[in-house]
Amino acid sequence: MKDEFWSTHLDKKENLALELATIRVLHPTKNELNDDPLEAEIDFEKRRLERASIKSGGIFYDATRLVSLYWRLIPKEGRRSNVCHLILTRELFGTWDRDDLRWHARAVMLGYPCLVSATGLVEAPAKPSEYYQRRNAGVDVASLKEEMGEHFIDYGDERMIEVLKGYCAQAVFYSMTRQAFCDDPGCRLFNAHWQVELIYAQIGGPYEFCEKHTRMIEKLKAGT
Ligand SMILES: [Zn+2]
Repeated sequence: MKDEFWSTHLDKKENLALELATIRVLHPTKNELNDDPLEAEIDFEKRRLERASIKSGGIFYDATRLVSLYWRLIPKEGRRSNVCHLILTRELFGTWDRDDLRWHARAVMLGYPCLVSATGLVEAPAKPSEYYQRRNAGVDVASLKEEMGEHFIDYGDERMIEVLKGYCAQAVFYSMTRQAFCDDPGCRLFNAHWQVELIYAQIGGPYEFCEKHTRMIEKLKAGT
């Protein structure tokens, strides 16, 4: 368990800052990255590597490249696929969708390592349609949060820890089985695209895991 992953790699700060600045997504509908970053962008990444408390301020990274960057930072002796490498982060990342030709934020990126983003949990699954309709009609966000807050997870939400546990479970299952997600909307391994789905799968459903995954957990506990 490492609290601050970056702080153990500050000797590589210059290269890391350059790479982080390079893998930024610049536009939601353009499949291109920040190949030629500005000095100021690299400096900002350097400062963030030194001080984790500096917020990313809306920076969106290419998730695939971020996974690759993290993987190279794991010591060679630890790079085994039978070990669950899980990075919990506040960074926002996403993947390019070839069907609708735009970037989509992700709450979790299953790979080696797996990334789980607290920011992604807020930003990636869509809020109820009514939220966007009313916001676009001019209703202020604070009022919408007061009225509809139970239907979506927001920053500082007391339900966040419980939701994060489920997403960490998704990473652990992926590392063990190479299978991503579950089709059962009530299972904590469900890949929610809407906040209401996320809340149902992680908190509001009748059970934590579906029958299949409950059996798998029991087998693991029994060591069989
Ligand atoms: Zn399941």
